[in-house]
Amino acid sequence: MEKICVAVRVRPPVSQDASVATYWNVEDNRISLHRPHGTPISGASYAFDHVFDETCSNAQVYELLTRDLIHAAVKGFNGTAFAYGQTSSGKTFTMNGSANDPGIIHRAVEDIFEKIQAMSDREFLIRVSYMEIYNEEINDLLSLENQKLQIHESLERGIFVAGLKEEIVNNAEQVLHLKESGEVNRHFGETNMNVRSSRSHTIFRMVIESRGKDTNSSNGYSGSDAVRVSVLNLVDLAGSERIAKTGAGGVRLKEGKYINKSLMVLGNVINKLSDGAKQRGHIPYRDSKLTRILQSALGGNAKTSIICTLAPEEVHIEETKGTLQFASRAKRITNCAQVNEILTDAALLKRQKLEIEELRNKLQGSHAEVLEQEILKLRNEMLKYELEREKLEMQLEEERRSHKERDQCIREQQMKIENLSSLVTFSDCDRNSSQEHDSRRESPKEEGIDSTIKCQGDIFETPCFKGAPNNFVVKRSNYSNPPDFSPLPDSFSDVADEDTWFKMNKGYVPDLDSLQMTPARKVQSFPPSDVTLTPVPSNEDYKQELENLKRQLEVLTEEKNELQRKHTEQILLNDQLMGEVSELKHEAKIIQEIPERLHESVASCKDIYEDVMSTMQSFASNGESSTAKLLSGTSEIGRTLFSTLETHFAMVMNHKPVHANDSVSQEQYKELSESLKSTVTSLVLSEKPMENKQEYTWDGETAGWMEKSSNGLNSIKEKYHDLEKGLDKNNKLLEVSKERYGSLEREFKLLKEERDSLLRTVSESSQQLALLTDQKENVLKDLSTEVQRRKRLEEEIKQFSVAFASRQRILVSIENEFQSTIEKMRAQNPVSLPKSLGS
Ligand code: ADP
Ligand code: MG
Repeated sequence: MEKICVAVRVRPPVSQDASVATYWNVEDNRISLHRPHGTPISGASYAFDHVFDETCSNAQVYELLTRDLIHAAVKGFNGTAFAYGQTSSGKTFTMNGSANDPGIIHRAVEDIFEKIQAMSDREFLIRVSYMEIYNEEINDLLSLENQKLQIHESLERGIFVAGLKEEIVNNAEQVLHLKESGEVNRHFGETNMNVRSSRSHTIFRMVIESRGKDTNSSNGYSGSDAVRVSVLNLVDLAGSERIAKTGAGGVRLKEGKYINKSLMVLGNVINKLSDGAKQRGHIPYRDSKLTRILQSALGGNAKTSIICTLAPEEVHIEETKGTLQFASRAKRITNCAQVNEILTDAALLKRQKLEIEELRNKLQGSHAEVLEQEILKLRNEMLKYELEREKLEMQLEEERRSHKERDQCIREQQMKIENLSSLVTFSDCDRNSSQEHDSRRESPKEEGIDSTIKCQGDIFETPCFKGAPNNFVVKRSNYSNPPDFSPLPDSFSDVADEDTWFKMNKGYVPDLDSLQMTPARKVQSFPPSDVTLTPVPSNEDYKQELENLKRQLEVLTEEKNELQRKHTEQILLNDQLMGEVSELKHEAKIIQEIPERLHESVASCKDIYEDVMSTMQSFASNGESSTAKLLSGTSEIGRTLFSTLETHFAMVMNHKPVHANDSVSQEQYKELSESLKSTVTSLVLSEKPMENKQEYTWDGETAGWMEKSSNGLNSIKEKYHDLEKGLDKNNKLLEVSKERYGSLEREFKLLKEERDSLLRTVSESSQQLALLTDQKENVLKDLSTEVQRRKRLEEEIKQFSVAFASRQRILVSIENEFQSTIEKMRAQNPVSLPKSLGS
């Protein structure tokens, strides 16, 4: 663990103003604000690793602050040096320098090559890149085509800028020449360079790979496969100033307005890191491109130096104080740098080992210098080829990822459709028969769809062109264990307000909203490819919903079946009851007709009786008065009997029940019996005086008639009694039938109600079924659009494969060209090679 090295450098004042009220005094490694007469102002004194006053040169700054860092980078440690301070405080002067006093970058580059020369036991490969972060966009300063580059992270390379051009270099001049060309690109298209330079960060990056040489071995390499890879960042940051708004009462700092998001986040990161390991919590590296690129330099696996430049003028006091506070906080940060050793093919040096060796062996001759140039060219071409391949791989990876997502989406859709169609099939089959259901579920049509999907699934699998590295051993420290969310920014007092920027940028208004803290973000675990990219249209929820629907449908279908069964049963019962009711009605009708028929027969009996009586009376009028009296008595009895019968039948026919204890009938009975009694008494009294003369008064014929009449009367009486009994019986039967009829009618009413409710339920069920059928149709429509989409996707993949194949062919041809050039060179320089290195 080691602290970040922090130095402060005071720029020479622009003009010597005698009327200054305060000044910055530098003493050893301390800087403090003094009054003109020499007394220090309390609370404005700061100590650092180094404090350079205005007389210090870039050479001294490099010597004291950066040299060790550069030497460590050559040895395999990551290193970062950056200049921080307000605009015009001397950052660019410190990093780039002047013709007379070259800056840190220039000196570092020369120092590195000197060091390499001195380290004869190691083989080096150095790559250079140069980028700019402007308005949170990364642009390649070595290649104008590469704009708005993205930051990626991989197991092999750690955090890197994808697509950034890297150039392999052999000497310091090449590096400085590249940097020059980068500066030219930086000027391109920008009218006001001051504005741009104070708003953009430039990162000059060198990747230094090295491996030990073994002078004893045949090919010049040691037995160890380890390659050291270190990254050196030399950063010129954007202006950190915040020019305060002038209020009525004087200068007032306006908090909360940040111009440069990267610097704001850098301040925030530094604040967090300076809190100490325990309190620091989440470090918001991901909140800006700058902090993400410099992640390892800030509290990670790197040696870091910060030079904070100050403008000594009194007018800049607040900004200077802000810069000094930043520097003080940065001083508290500890890093843990270690040598990065790689055993895999990730090291470019290792990948190019054989080729380099072959070419190097050929360099033993007078054409060495020319050939050295040629080799460099070839190596750069190789690098270009590799970068191109990397880019393609990245594109492929992206494509693969998006295919995976699409495939997943299709699968989900398919599952949805399958579930729904099985549901619908189930309901369909339920309507028909279970046998039909089984056969439909395993229908060849569905099998066909299934196999098509499987087949398409295979098509969507993008072939893997490169296996994952398996024996990666690069040592990268991993200190930060970030929690879930970015905290709110701490106050950071070195950024300019928007009005000033508006003026300085000639009307350009930065999007301040976009400079706010990034929203709370879940930290992704490494590697990122393992992370599911789609938020979930929740498949589980959908499945659950489908399951519920299925269950509902099952319950409904069961209910419907049960109701249908009940309905059929009830209809049968209903029919049976209706049959019984009609039978009873028929019976009742017959019973109702009985009194009528009896009435008719009584009427005919009465007619016959009256005929008989009139005939008898005509006979009797010629004979004895007693006979006539008897006849009239008998006729009276008969009339009374018949009239009683008629009344009874009339009552029965008017549906009035006839009971023995009924008061009307009782009276009639009374009357009847009295009249019969009186008639019989009168007849007996009239017969007594003539008792002795009976033989003389009545002849034989009359006696016969009398006997016949009394027999007829008796039979009529008997018949009447029989009829009365029958009537009584029929009345009882009628009562029972009526009761039964009433209960049947009630039952029928209930059944009718039940049937109505059943019909309602059945209609509801049919509506639900219709709804499901609609859903099924929609799903089928979805399926067909999905199938269309998949077809389109297939087409796209085919096109992509064709394009990829053509690109591969181009790359292969480049490789072939390269091979043939090597061959040519071999032919030009026929040097005897060891067999192991021969083609
Ligand atoms: P910045 O990059 O911080 O905006 P510059 O490096 O462009 O500032 O410096 C502004 C001016 O001050 C330049 O003209 C530069 O030459 C000059 N300057 C800065 N620092 C020094 C120094 N230590 N010695 C001499 N001149 C300096
Ligand atoms: Mg500058």
